[in-house]
Amino acid sequence: MANVLVFSDKTRLAAELITAAETIGDAVWAVTVNDEMQARELASYGVKVLKIDVPELCLADTAAVAAAIYQAAEHAAADTVLLAANRAGKEIAGRLVQMMGAGCLADVKAVNTDKGEIIGVRNALGGATVAEQVIKTAKKVLVISPKAFSPAPQGPGGSMEDFSVNVKTPRVKVVETREKKVESVDIEAAEVLVVVGQGLDGMETLAQAEDVAQKLNGEVACSKPLATDKKWLSEARVVGISGKICQPELAVIMGISGQVQFSVGIRDAKTIITVNNDENAPICEMSDYILTADMNQVLAELSKGL
Ligand SMILES: Cc1cc2nc3c(=O)[nH]c(=O)nc-3n(C[C@H](O)[C@H](O)[C@H](O)COP(=O)(O)OP(=O)(O)OC[C@H]3O[C@@H](n4cnc5c(N)ncnc54)[C@H](O)[C@@H]3O)c2cc1C
Repeated sequence: MANVLVFSDKTRLAAELITAAETIGDAVWAVTVNDEMQARELASYGVKVLKIDVPELCLADTAAVAAAIYQAAEHAAADTVLLAANRAGKEIAGRLVQMMGAGCLADVKAVNTDKGEIIGVRNALGGATVAEQVIKTAKKVLVISPKAFSPAPQGPGGSMEDFSVNVKTPRVKVVETREKKVESVDIEAAEVLVVVGQGLDGMETLAQAEDVAQKLNGEVACSKPLATDKKWLSEARVVGISGKICQPELAVIMGISGQVQFSVGIRDAKTIITVNNDENAPICEMSDYILTADMNQVLAELSKGL
């Protein structure tokens, strides 16, 4: 009988992991850390919950959390552990696989089983295709992408068990917690996107891009470097494999080369207009209309003319 243990401190993600675990295991266990409410909710999905209540065990100390999950996996006789592919989950995964002597697949989009083997489906070649991969070690850690599975429905048979763990004196102390300011924009829902990339010459032109997007009843989106390196726009506006997958009616793509990690996030737009000063940029191959021009001049003229 294959036991699978799931952990995420985010209840919604833990519920998605339970759905994934049910496709590969016979018995599903969950572990919670200092979260009575989450323990109750996960038990209501019909799984066995190991409830850890150790106030000094701090979620920011991923080494200590990994050690606690390791002990929970041993207790549950679970050879397979599922974590969520958010920042915390990935950080815990690296530490946990080392403790378990496990193989690991990260950013898993789907799971199947075949002749007793667990098959993880992941994007490959930067998202241009998908690969089915198998972990050959007896112990396995799969790090599952958020939203790859629906949250588990309520079900009978769940239980809660207090579980004590041995953790070292924490090396991380939380001194202050601040709410992260998250932009509420939803570029996946926009019908029109003006998508800007590294061809953009500065904040003044960005204001023109915002003006043009507004006049077209759309939103501004961007390639990853504009958010993560230049920090001109929030990460909520990034198109691509590490951002959002968008299918607008119209995408106006400006100053973007069209690397595959970006293109997978916009290739299903109904109409793509590209503005680039390089007529051989890869983005041109997937565009319906191409304007070989300086995007900054084009934005200035559109902002004035629309
Ligand atoms: C694991 C991984 C995940 C990634 N995920 C993403 C992701 O989700 N989204 C993403 O976007 N990237 C992602 N990337 C980065 C990606 O590989 C590219 O580096 C990035 O998309 C490039 O952004 P860009 O096209 O804006 O910049 P560049 O590649 O530098 O292209 C700039 C383009 O602008 C044109 N240009 C320059 N000046 C002008 C001008 N004045 N007028 C008109 N055109 C001009 C140039 O000809 C060029 O085509 C990821 C990379 C990795 C390794």
